[in-house]
Amino acid sequence: MHIRFDNTYARLPERFYARQEPARVLDPTLIRLNRELAAQLAIDVDWLHSADGVATLAGNALPEGADPIAQAYAGHQFGGFSPQLGDGRALLLGEVVDTEGTRRDLQLKGSGRTPFSRGGDGKSALGPVIREYVVSEAMAALGVPTTRALAAVATGERVMRQEGPLLGGVFARVAASHIRVGTFQYFLARRDIDALRLLADHAIARHYPDAAEAPAPYLALLEGVVAAQADLISHWMSLGFIHGVMNTDNTAISGETIDYGPCAFMDAFHARRVFSSIDTGGRYAWGSQPDIGLWNLTRFAETLLPLLSQTQSDAITIAEGALHAFAARYHNQHAARFRAKLGLGPQTPVERIQACLDLLDAQDVDFTLFFRRLTSIAGGEDPAALAAMFADRESFETWFATWRRDADPGAHLTKMRAANPIRIPRNHRVEQAIQGAYRGDFAPFDRLVDGLATPYADQDAYADLETPPQPEEVVHQTFCGT
Ligand code: AMP
Ligand code: MG
Repeated sequence: MHIRFDNTYARLPERFYARQEPARVLDPTLIRLNRELAAQLAIDVDWLHSADGVATLAGNALPEGADPIAQAYAGHQFGGFSPQLGDGRALLLGEVVDTEGTRRDLQLKGSGRTPFSRGGDGKSALGPVIREYVVSEAMAALGVPTTRALAAVATGERVMRQEGPLLGGVFARVAASHIRVGTFQYFLARRDIDALRLLADHAIARHYPDAAEAPAPYLALLEGVVAAQADLISHWMSLGFIHGVMNTDNTAISGETIDYGPCAFMDAFHARRVFSSIDTGGRYAWGSQPDIGLWNLTRFAETLLPLLSQTQSDAITIAEGALHAFAARYHNQHAARFRAKLGLGPQTPVERIQACLDLLDAQDVDFTLFFRRLTSIAGGEDPAALAAMFADRESFETWFATWRRDADPGAHLTKMRAANPIRIPRNHRVEQAIQGAYRGDFAPFDRLVDGLATPYADQDAYADLETPPQPEEVVHQTFCGT
């Protein structure tokens, strides 16, 4: 057996999923393989490179022990509830216990139609594959909980999209699990309380084993998910990351970032920034993410009400208590992360953080480069390069004088360096990698993935990945591409 599968989700009752084989593709070629991740999963890298391995990553061959299923889930999309979404273009091949003892899902995305495909073709164009590979691996390197990229394959086929026929791809994804808030909602919508209990027990065993020992395990599960989402979203915020589609079906119970569609890292900082072409109302703007996170968690809590107490009013009180913890946890995390970014001690008032963000917002200042240059100043460099980022020099100087007084860079330099990446997946570089891939040139993609593997380290060879886009390179919108 090349992959040591142990498929606990596929052993849950049949109403949790639909069994489905992946579609065969014409001419699969391997674009990139994550060797390190393969090793963690104890999968033989040489085998993955072989024709047999590539056929497996493309869905043309099923490895021994795989039990491919399309998982059922529901979800609120932009606030509107769909009682049935499910894996419409993805299949869970199975689960692997990695070398650290952690159980992880191996999923193929873009592997053809399933009973949940509705009108879709179940396929993926190469662009979204490249985007998810780059951004999810960058997030992992930045230290953010995330699903991972195991491999990207070109199918040799074309898929029809709005832009016309595009080269197709299959993405092999690894996740702590693919259980979403929407998975719980699927069973609540059917009033299937037995299934809710089974799913909650499964999620506890997998992601919150301590909750099993708690006096009230389902409350402990809710508390765990609330904490994980508060931490995750504060982490996104501190990096200028905008998920773009924070629907409940894209909210993982594990606390990992999942489903990289029209996501983006901001260049110039604006609290209301939106990139997604479909988010016309700005529901998922950068500054709305904590509120939306709590909204999604409230939908999750609703699904657990039948398990929290026999009496509904008691269940609601219990759930509200757990949800109440979100704000404090989020604000503490947010303050800690931004204090670290600014080189401020724990006593500095949080108003200083907001004052800094207001300054950046008012002056179109590049978020990542600002904090990077501030870190350099803390390390002894001249402030000229930072000052030059501001058109209104006077308001910068006023802020800077306050910062000089507040900050203790000597004491906090290490923390600053660890909180302020030098390289992020800038939209224009991701776009260049995608456009290159459509031309058959994967060099920009490979270089981008390589350069983003060490985001906090100074590396002159990747200096071009540090800088904001030239005016003609600016990406204003990102697309799902599905
Ligand atoms: P997303 O918001 O992109 O994660 O997808 C929302 C829903 O649409 C999920 O149920 C997906 O499986 C489904 N979906 C997206 N793209 C396709 C496609 N090309 N074919 C079939 N289903 C799709
Ligand atoms: Mg999704």
